[in-house]
Amino acid sequence: MTIIDLRSDTVTHPTPAMREAMATAQVGDDVYGEDPTINQLQEMAAERLGKEAGLFVPSGTMGNLAAILAYCNRGDEIILGNQTHIFLNEAGGIAALGGIHPYPIPNQPNGTLALDDIREAIRSDDPHHPITRLIALENTHNCCGGAVLTAEYTQAVADLAHANGLVLHLDGARIFNAATALDVDVASLVAPVDSVTFCLSKGLCAPVGSVLCGSKEFIARAHRVRKQLGGGMRQAGILAAAGIVALHEIAPRLAEDHVRARNLAQGLRNIPGVILDSGEPASNMVYLTLGEDLPLNAEDAARRLKGCHVLVDVVSPRRFRLVTHYWIDDQAIHSTIEAFEKVLGNYS
Ligand SMILES: *Cc1c(COP(=O)(O)O)cnc(C)c1O
Repeated sequence: MTIIDLRSDTVTHPTPAMREAMATAQVGDDVYGEDPTINQLQEMAAERLGKEAGLFVPSGTMGNLAAILAYCNRGDEIILGNQTHIFLNEAGGIAALGGIHPYPIPNQPNGTLALDDIREAIRSDDPHHPITRLIALENTHNCCGGAVLTAEYTQAVADLAHANGLVLHLDGARIFNAATALDVDVASLVAPVDSVTFCLSKGLCAPVGSVLCGSKEFIARAHRVRKQLGGGMRQAGILAAAGIVALHEIAPRLAEDHVRARNLAQGLRNIPGVILDSGEPASNMVYLTLGEDLPLNAEDAARRLKGCHVLVDVVSPRRFRLVTHYWIDDQAIHSTIEAFEKVLGNYS
């Protein structure tokens, strides 16, 4: 029996084409800058994102951390959303390793930060205050239901940042999903930001890695930070090879995952006790809450769904996240809806 694993798009294992490319990749010592496959991936990623340079890093977390450490001194402040991955899910790395002071402001339900909230959070030049150094956004916004930020909004935040001498970093872990959802070129979507991290190892299906992109001068600084963090790898071209396949073959097909997320939401919407977040899923994520009248919580339901070979992510006592990806086909969507009907149907 195949397992339908909707917990995350991080569960994607590499495609046969990736394994083939990994097996045959040309490699060298990347600490000497001599891995041709890593160099190729970095150039390709930078070109796709319309930035001068790219840096291959082991994880999205390290990409964000290297970027923020490259911009900030100890005691500097970063303005970011209180529902962002950097604030919630990166183990406090910016504070632990960089002495960087987070200034969390509310994420709106659509993943944005209100421009007025940002404006108010920017510190005045007063020796009592930390120095505001940067603003960070997240696109797509994971905890806000996979919400998509537009290029216009991103430009407005960039304008605000730049007018105040700040930089704008984008945690674009799923930026290719965002560009797909908006049907725009990814480079135009990230044109306003000074730097961007994206993950190869999520919906793009590669087994390992992220790429940080920005100006040549910025990437040179981030490169040194990556070394400090222990992220200088050697013949990691075997990993980058999968990333190249991901950009060529997987990025263009993400719309399929978005259609399946909408179909999944459509099927679940009719099941009594299931409360879907309002609106259609914006990208590849479906969030749902169990109604209070159901006598089981999300953990119980997840356990029973597992009995039907369906794995879901429990995000709070009554709430789930389901994420579509390359290895979830139409049949899997159908089977998942059936499993929910079976598990929850007994109570209606
Ligand atoms: C997964 C994720 C990251 C971090 O990536 P890892 O490779 O897991 O370290 C950063 N931001 C967002 C929004 C993510 O979903």
